[in-house]
Amino acid sequence: MSLVQMENVIKTYKVGDVEVQALGGINLSLEEGKFISFIGPSGSGKTTLLNLVGCLDKPTQGTITIMGTDTGTMDRKTAARFRGENIGFIFQNFNLIPVLTVYENVEYPLVIVRRVPKENREQQVMQVLESVGMADQRNKYPNQLSGGQKQRVAVARALVVEPKIILADEPTANLDHATAYKVIHLMHELKRVFNTTFIFATHDPRIVEEAEIVYTIEDGCIVDSRKQSNSSKERK
Ligand code: ADP
Ligand code: MG
Repeated sequence: MSLVQMENVIKTYKVGDVEVQALGGINLSLEEGKFISFIGPSGSGKTTLLNLVGCLDKPTQGTITIMGTDTGTMDRKTAARFRGENIGFIFQNFNLIPVLTVYENVEYPLVIVRRVPKENREQQVMQVLESVGMADQRNKYPNQLSGGQKQRVAVARALVVEPKIILADEPTANLDHATAYKVIHLMHELKRVFNTTFIFATHDPRIVEEAEIVYTIEDGCIVDSRKQSNSSKERK
C-alpha cells in the first residue's frame, strides 16, 4: 500500500466569477519513508498540492487516499484529528509562537493535539530537541534565535507527535545557503531515524539534490518525475 495515492486530482479555486485551475488532474503514488520534492515555478500548484495532502483543503474532483483512508470523505473535525495524528507541517516563516519558549513551542502540539499528560511530555520534548541540536536553547524565545535555529525548532515541533508525513512548503526560502544546507541535512538524517516521509515544495536546488524522488510540476500538472540515487544517504 502506498502512503499517499492521488487519483485524477483536480483543484479549482473560484475567485468571484472566475475559476482558476490550480491542479489539472494529478495521479501520484508516494511511498513511505522517502525524501520527496515537488519543484516548479511560482504559481504551478505546489502549495495547493501540499495543502491537499495535509487535509487542509479538499480536491474539487478526484480522490486522495492517505494510509488507506479516503480523505475526501472526512468532515472538518475528522480531518483535523487525522492531521494531528499523522501529519506535521514546516513553513517558510517558521511560524513559531513568539510568546512561548523553544521548549513550549515544541511541547504545544503534545498539549493541544495529543493531550499527553504533563509528566510524559518532558521526555518527548527533550528527545526531539536533542535530535535537532536545540536542547541547550530550550529556554530562549524565538526572537533570540537565528533563522536556522528557528527552523530547527520548527522541525522539532513537527516531529514531536511522530507523524508519518512531514510537509514542508519552501522551508529554506528564508535561510542563507550554509544554514539551509544544514537544515536540509538534518531533515534527511531525521527521515532515516524516524522513518518519516518528508514532502517538500521548493525552488531550492539544494533540497532537490538531497531528494530521492523529484516531481516537476507546471501549470498544475506533473510533467516529470525522477528518482535520484545521489542523495546523502548513498553518499555516506
Ligand atoms: P505555488 O505554490 O507553486 O506557487 P499555488 O498552489 O500557490 O502555487 O497556486 C497555484 C495557482 O492557484 C495559482 O494560479 C494561484 O494564483 C492559484 N491559487 C492558489 N491559492 C488560491 C486561492 N486561495 N484562491 C484563488 N486562487 C488561488
Ligand atoms: Mg507555494
